[in-house]
Amino acid sequence: MDKYVVFGNPIAQSKSPFIHTLFARQTAQDMSYEARLAPLEGFVAAMETFFADGGRGCNVTVPFKEQAFDYADQLTERARLAGAVNTLKKLDDGLILGDNTDGEGLVQDLLQHQIELQGKRILLVGAGGAARGVVLPLLAQQPSSVTITNRTVAKADALVEAFATHGPVSAKALDELEGDHYDIIINSTSASLSGQLPGIPAGLIEPHTVCYDMVYGAEPTAFNQWAQQQGANVVLDGLGMLVGQAAESFMLWRGIRPGARQVQRELRRSLQP
Ligand code: NDP
Repeated sequence: MDKYVVFGNPIAQSKSPFIHTLFARQTAQDMSYEARLAPLEGFVAAMETFFADGGRGCNVTVPFKEQAFDYADQLTERARLAGAVNTLKKLDDGLILGDNTDGEGLVQDLLQHQIELQGKRILLVGAGGAARGVVLPLLAQQPSSVTITNRTVAKADALVEAFATHGPVSAKALDELEGDHYDIIINSTSASLSGQLPGIPAGLIEPHTVCYDMVYGAEPTAFNQWAQQQGANVVLDGLGMLVGQAAESFMLWRGIRPGARQVQRELRRSLQP
C-alpha cells in the first residue's frame, strides 16, 4: 500500500486525512494517508525518515511550507513563484518534486461554482503566504486585473513586483480603494479567524460582487457575514479551496482527478457540531 502523510505542527486539526481517505475510496486507490506531527526543529529529519521508509508523497502545512520549498530537489513554476511548497512527491529517479496546489485549489473551486475569472476585475485582500500562492493561478485565468491590497502596503508592493511579468497585477492601499469596482473580492487575510474584518471599504461590495473568504468553519466567516450585509449575493468560504488543493495534490501523486464536490459536502457535514 502506498504511503502518504500530511506534516505540520500542530496537526491534529488537519482535515487532509479525511479528504484523501475519501478520494482514495472514491477512485479505488490502494493507499494510506495519515497526519503526522513534525518537530518544530526537525522537519528535514522527518522528511528523510518518511521517504527512506517508502513514503510516496506528502502534504506540508503550517509552519513548514518554506522549509519544504528548500527541501525539494525540483519545483513546479507555481511553487517557485509562491516561495512555498504544500505538496512533495518522490519521483521515479528518487528526486523530490515540490509543488504548491493552494492557488489552483482556489481557482478550481471558483470554476466549480460557475464563477468565470476571464476578463474579471479581481481584488485580492491580504499579501501573506496564501495570497502569494494564488496570484499565478489567478493570472493564468486571464482576468482583466488583479489588484492586491493589504494592511501593510509594502507586502502588496512586493507581490506585485514578483508577479508583474505574469499579468495585469497592481497594488493599492486599503484607503485608495474607495470608488473602485470589482467582480470578485478574495479575502486571503487571517482576519476572520479572530472575528475581524480586513478593512476594505463597504462600498466596494455590489450585489454582483462574488466574495470569497479563504477561512472556513461551521458558521459563516466574519467577512462573509459582513459581505452579505453589504448586499453580496454570492459568498463562498475556503472549504472548497481546501478540498480543491487536496484534489490537485492527489492528481499529482496518483494521476487521477478525484471528484471534489461530494467530498466537500461530506466535509461540510462533518464540521457541524
Ligand atoms: P500569513 O500570516 O502569511 O498572512 C496573513 C495576512 O492577513 C497578511 O496579509 C496580514 O496583513 C493579514 N491580516 C491578518 N490579520 C488582519 C487584520 N485583522 N486586518 C487586516 N489584515 C490582517 O497567513 P496566510 O497568508 O498563510 O494565511 C491567511 C489565511 O488564509 C489563514 O486564515 C489561512 O487559514 C487561510 N488559508 C486557507 C486555505 C484554504 O485552503 N482554505 C489555504 C491557505 C490559507 P499584514 O501583512 O498587514 O500583517
